[in-house]
Amino acid sequence: MRVLVTGAAGFIGSHYTRTLLAGGYTGLDRIDVTALDTLGYAGRRDNLPAEHPRLTFVRGDVCDPALMRDIVPGHDAVVHFAAESHVDRSLEAAGVFVRVNVQGTQNLLEACLGGGVERVVHVSTDEVYGSLSEGSWTEDSPLLPNNPYSASKAAADLVVRSYVRTHGLDASITRCTNNYGPRQHVEKFVPRSITRLLTGGEITLYGDGSHVREWLHVDDHCRAVHLVLMKGTAGRVYNVGGGDGLTNRLMARTLLNLCGAEESRVRAVADRKGHDRRYSLDDTRIREELGYAPQVPFAEGLARTVSWYRDHPEWWNTPG
Ligand code: NAD
Repeated sequence: MRVLVTGAAGFIGSHYTRTLLAGGYTGLDRIDVTALDTLGYAGRRDNLPAEHPRLTFVRGDVCDPALMRDIVPGHDAVVHFAAESHVDRSLEAAGVFVRVNVQGTQNLLEACLGGGVERVVHVSTDEVYGSLSEGSWTEDSPLLPNNPYSASKAAADLVVRSYVRTHGLDASITRCTNNYGPRQHVEKFVPRSITRLLTGGEITLYGDGSHVREWLHVDDHCRAVHLVLMKGTAGRVYNVGGGDGLTNRLMARTLLNLCGAEESRVRAVADRKGHDRRYSLDDTRIREELGYAPQVPFAEGLARTVSWYRDHPEWWNTPG
């Protein structure tokens, strides 16, 4: 099987690619991977093996139609992680989010159609549903995104839907909660907090810190994505929950404990504009239909993540 992974040098895409190459998913005899990434600020070539007999790395842009027409044919499947992924950046410069996340996705799908790709998974986010005060979202909940990042992801989801309905492309969508794990860019809350604590700095907490997020280890997320790739139904959306919902304040306290830091090293800052209060996913569908269950206990996964950042200062102190 030949798989094209987009955004393969980023946090989640690289974890998925490394696990694929290491034979970490069952049901596949031999897998060849083409890893595509622009190597922008969030992508690091050293997140992937320097050399591997079944890995081809292509530095390129999903928005480039000629490149996509060139490299996509010949692949059996495409797993699409490439995106502009940081909400805060989307508040300052939304245009690139629309270009990469919406137009890039459409461009990739077009190449998949033309290139005869048999299976596509588009990796999306729970943020497309907006914010809710109680209960949990199912896949049928309305798309009500509140910031340019989540709006661009929601738009991409609709483009995927249209390619399934109109052209019969065999594509599924995953929507997961917040991921954590090794190799996440330090702009994101968990690695930013850990690396600041390890270097004597403070955790900054938006507003009153009562925003609730569910946390999913990157390993569980990638396992879910692969399950959807192999067993998912065309046109179907699959929520991927972590089950561990906690306030940002509680997450900060947990990280303080793991880093051996005092409570005083948390500082409140002005809230993010349009900040969603609470996310919560109902992921019954992927559990019942595909047999998914997260395997990494939160406390253990977070402790291992802190250890990874402690042991790899060269990774977060140097650009990729
Ligand atoms: P990331 O920013 O670490 O990785 C994204 C990768 O895409 C980077 O390597 C970047 O260089 C690459 N990229 C950006 N623009 C590109 C382009 N035009 N062409 C090719 N490559 C390009 O993000 P991540 O956290 O690994 O997220 C991966 C996917 O998962 C994204 O689609 C994101 O929306 C989704 N997601 C992430 C989370 C999370 O908590 N991290 C949660 C839900 C969904």
